[in-house]
Amino acid sequence: MVQIYQDFIPVGNGNRPGYAMTPEYVTVHNTANTSKGADAKSHAAYVKSPTTEVSWHFTVDDHEIFQHLPLNENGWHAGDGHGNGNRKSIGIEICENADGNFQQAVKHAQWLIQKLLKEHHIPLANVVTHQYWSGKACPRQLLATWNEFKKGIESAEDPETVITYVVKSGDTLTSIAKAHGVTVQDLQNWNDISDPNKIQIGQVL
Ligand SMILES: [Zn+2]
Repeated sequence: MVQIYQDFIPVGNGNRPGYAMTPEYVTVHNTANTSKGADAKSHAAYVKSPTTEVSWHFTVDDHEIFQHLPLNENGWHAGDGHGNGNRKSIGIEICENADGNFQQAVKHAQWLIQKLLKEHHIPLANVVTHQYWSGKACPRQLLATWNEFKKGIESAEDPETVITYVVKSGDTLTSIAKAHGVTVQDLQNWNDISDPNKIQIGQVL
């Protein structure tokens, strides 16, 4: 089972640039952090640090996925300034923490990308490396086997997922509903059921 947390960087934070985006690409990264504990949750805290001036949309590890930005806003992750990498691509970091299972994290990322391609009508050809935009050797663990990684996107199996929206100060049911394009009534219904395709409202466990 994979827990997905929508734990957005607060509006106004320097790492939430907030330019409107219609995603046309998916850009894949590796965190390049092999420390124990350098998992998705720790990166969710990191991207809220206002001095880092870097942000992306999802961090994936072997048991959790954290979403840091809504998909209709850009992040700073591709190293191409205001080019298509930063302004038109969904950025995904795959964790390399020593206490995690990298291959499992890769499988989860492949499934997430498959889902994003369907939802945003993005062709597989537009799944690219960070290197594609800026020349940086990233995702460093996947560059040598990039074609295999892309093949795995098509065949990725759906892990059981639960999506939790992490409530921030200032959120109201109305603002949360608006952010998800649904009604308050929908939200209240979602909290009463355990459909894995619905979003529950809560805190990081
Ligand atoms: Zn990168």
